[in-house]
Amino acid sequence: MYGRMVGDKILEEVAKGVQEIKEKYGKSPLLMTLEVGDNPASRVYLSSQRKTAEEVGINYETIQLSAATSQERLLNMIRDINKDPYINGLILHLPLPKHINTKIVQWSIEQKKDVEGVTPMNLGQLFLGMPGLIPCTAQSIVALIKSTGVDLKGREVTIIGNSDIVGKPVALLLMQEEATVTVCQLTTYERGFLKEHVQRAEILIVAAGHPGLVKGEWIKDGAIVIDAGITAVEDKILGDVQFEEAVKKADYITPVPGGVGILTVAYLMKNTLEALKWQLRDNEED
Ligand code: NAD
Repeated sequence: MYGRMVGDKILEEVAKGVQEIKEKYGKSPLLMTLEVGDNPASRVYLSSQRKTAEEVGINYETIQLSAATSQERLLNMIRDINKDPYINGLILHLPLPKHINTKIVQWSIEQKKDVEGVTPMNLGQLFLGMPGLIPCTAQSIVALIKSTGVDLKGREVTIIGNSDIVGKPVALLLMQEEATVTVCQLTTYERGFLKEHVQRAEILIVAAGHPGLVKGEWIKDGAIVIDAGITAVEDKILGDVQFEEAVKKADYITPVPGGVGILTVAYLMKNTLEALKWQLRDNEED
């Protein structure tokens, strides 16, 4: 399963939505990214975001701050961005320098501009099944699963990794679909139980950042396997599943690269459009 298969359709819809808003309101979305310090590893990611944004008619700007920027100054900048009617979405690139408290800064982002879905308000609304901006990787994973046509009700799903940005939101989205969800973490592995949770999974989602963690032979015949892991090793990008072996057992499997990652950028664009629509709706109600 390639991310592009689902992503192209999402991007087409976003381009159409952006065009409609332009015609109705004379406005194009602006997605702002904020980077503190120089992180060469994120260069590739940033240039792919910019290229995709431009393709669908979203303006994309980057603010690059020095690694010595204080937390107070960063918070002030975010407050200004929150108030700026021309900026519709904000991405805060991680990691931040050690002297900055990541949660405090992330949580200061205005909910309606939080296109990565990292604020307590958006995560809280996801928890309650209310509409809001949902983390992009979690949306990508669920879209890939749904693209197979599988009925999720009562399905055995195993998720490896319980981060706020991938594992937990995916678990919530799949629970809303009435799947049976098991979430594994490092301690599951350390206690030696990972294999049995993988063996049981009709749908396996892996986001641990541990290349080759899941052995191909563990995978249930006919399973759907979504590998969200991304680890750079020398000049290669590696996933968490041993692909060559897993592909023999799974009915559907995502490659790394070319799977979840590509689709995540498409959902970032979708969230930016949703953010602008939300802001326009609010303006109309005022
Ligand atoms: P994280 O790095 O914050 O946490 C890792 C999670 O995996 C934790 O819950 C930890 O307990 C678990 N874990 C680690 N080693 C494990 C092991 N040996 N066995 C079982 N569980 C283990 O998580 P994250 O930020 O969600 O990132 C996880 C991976 O997903 C990374 O490779 C990251 O690059 C990738 N990622 C991909 C995308 C994408 O768009 N494709 C987006 C975000 C993260």
